[in-house]
Amino acid sequence: MTLIDGKATAAAIRAEVKARAAAFEQKSGKKAGLAVVLIGNDPASQIYVRNKIRACEEAGIRSFTHYLPAETGQKEALALIEALAADENVHGILVQLPLPRHLDAKALLAAIPTEKDVDGFSDENIGKLAKNEGGTVACTPRGVMELLRRYNIPTAGKRAVVVGRSNIVGRPMAMLLINADATVTVCHSKTQNLKEICREADILVAAVGKPKFITADMVKEGAAVIDVGMNRDENGRSCGDVDFEGVKERVSYLTPVPGGVGPMTVAMLLCNTVEAAERTL
Ligand code: NDP
Repeated sequence: MTLIDGKATAAAIRAEVKARAAAFEQKSGKKAGLAVVLIGNDPASQIYVRNKIRACEEAGIRSFTHYLPAETGQKEALALIEALAADENVHGILVQLPLPRHLDAKALLAAIPTEKDVDGFSDENIGKLAKNEGGTVACTPRGVMELLRRYNIPTAGKRAVVVGRSNIVGRPMAMLLINADATVTVCHSKTQNLKEICREADILVAAVGKPKFITADMVKEGAAVIDVGMNRDENGRSCGDVDFEGVKERVSYLTPVPGGVGPMTVAMLLCNTVEAAERTL
């Protein structure tokens, strides 16, 4: 079994982004810029935002961080996003989710212009992905595709199964695999015969959010298994959606958790940001 090293792959991508950010700065006279908006006190979000800012700094991307209190109103949040949308130093805007419940997240995200939508969540970017017309792709599924590409795992003509159909992972993941010529099945909580379907997969992507949900009897021998899950096990340790120990003897490729898909998500955010900056040249 080849262990897919997301940490090392992400480091390589971050070095590539750094070179592109430097080239952008030389051509444009300014740094590529990412604005991060965090509203409220969600502890996990605070950690994610800190990591993203640090990653920007290391890559030579300027970050603009806006921390707003949990009680921020819709009007105020919208005004900030509109100001960032108009700011020429800001090439990408990221609104950290989840937002406090009283805010209309959909309306706030819709205020991000497509060209600055580095999360790839806008209707236009999703539409382009669905039609295989390019556009900015959500960071986590893009990171999975990068792992497959950099480990020379073929997708064309292969059977791919995606477990999970969320807007941020499962759905865009399935569309990317279709665009890469795989034959794709998407599974979810209402799927019947999940085990049998998963066992058909040459490439199995788990994005369920349930610790060790994918067990050895659900994977085909020799499959490539990509674990998007970020969970805690019964001892509070970080674990994925795949039973790593049980599955590892059967498969050809496997991503660990932590150190698999997770680091790729931040690397792809940097990538999306520098690409957004390059498009302004
Ligand atoms: P969601 O909760 O939005 O989606 C989970 C999906 O799993 C749903 O489509 C759901 O089906 C499906 N599901 C739930 N139970 C079952 C079941 N018993 N059988 C089959 N399918 C099932 O989660 P996300 O997509 O946001 O995230 C998934 C995981 O990935 C989480 O652990 C999350 O933390 C992690 N994650 C990791 C990232 C990273 O950077 N590594 C980034 C984003 C997420 P239904 O639609 O029917 O409800």
